Amino acid sequence: MEVLLARENGFCFGVKKAVELTEAAAESGRAVHNLGQVVHNPKISERLAARGVKVIADPSEATEGIVVIRAHGVPPEMRAKIEEQGLECIDATCSLVLRAQRFTKQLADEGYRVIILGTPEHPEVVGLRAYAGTDHVIVETKEEWAKLPKMRKAGVVSQSTQPPWAFKELVAHVAEIAQETKIFNTVCPVTIKRQHAATELAGATDTIIVVGGRNSANTRELVNLARMQGREAHHIEHAAELEPAWLVGKERVGLIGGCSTPMETLIEVKERAEALAA
Ligand code: SF4
Repeated sequence: MEVLLARENGFCFGVKKAVELTEAAAESGRAVHNLGQVVHNPKISERLAARGVKVIADPSEATEGIVVIRAHGVPPEMRAKIEEQGLECIDATCSLVLRAQRFTKQLADEGYRVIILGTPEHPEVVGLRAYAGTDHVIVETKEEWAKLPKMRKAGVVSQSTQPPWAFKELVAHVAEIAQETKIFNTVCPVTIKRQHAATELAGATDTIIVVGGRNSANTRELVNLARMQGREAHHIEHAAELEPAWLVGKERVGLIGGCSTPMETLIEVKERAEALAA
C-alpha cells in the first residue's frame, strides 16, 4: 500500500503567524493567554499549553500579561476590552480576515444589507458580523439563502473557509433577489488551493484520510469534497485514531491536512498507516 501526501499540506500563512506570535510571546516569560484556541488543532493546543499558554474565553479571565488574538479575528469591542483591562494585546488576526472585516464594514457603511456566507457561531463569523451593521444576515446552506426576502441593496462576503462553489451559488441567487448587489469575494485562496489538492488526491487514490481538528471548518470541507467525488473519506485528529480496517485491500491511500494541521502530525499519520499496512 502506498500513502500519497497531497501537494498542499501544513499550516497556511495565517495559522503559522498566529502560532509563531504566541510561541514568541511565551518566550518572554510573561503570562500569555490565547483568546480562544489559537488554531483548531489539539496537537498545537497541547504544545502551547506545555509552554504555559492559557486559553481564555474572555479578557476578564486574565489578570496580567499578554492576550493574543487568534487568526480568526475578534469584534472590535473585544480588542478594546483587552486594552481597557491594561493587558498587552498581540493581534494575530490573519491579513485576509482583516481584509474581509474591512469589506464588510464598507458594505454596511454604504447602506448594503450584508449577507455573510458562513457558520454563525464560528469565531471568524462572530468577528465579521460585528462590522456588518444591525441589519445583516448569515446564511450557510442553500435552504437558508432560498428564504431570503427581496431586497434593494445587498452586499455579500464570505467566511474565508467556505467552499467557492457555495459562494458562487449564493452570489447568483442574490443577484436575482436584489435590485443592487455588491460582492467581495473573501473566500481564502489558500483554502481553495487546498481544496483543489484534495480533489486531485481523491482522483488518484482509493480512500482519503483527512487530518485536522473536528471543529476546523476547512478540514471538514476537505472531507466533504472527497465524499462528493465518491471517495471513502475519514476525518481524524491524530495518528492513534487511524483504524486498520480503513486500509485493508487499499492500494493507494491519500493523506491531507487542514490549514491548521502541522506537517509533523501528517508525518505521524503516514508512518502509522505504513506500519499498519506492512
Ligand atoms: S485559512 Fe486563509 S484566511 Fe484563514 S488563517 Fe489561513 S490564510 Fe488566513
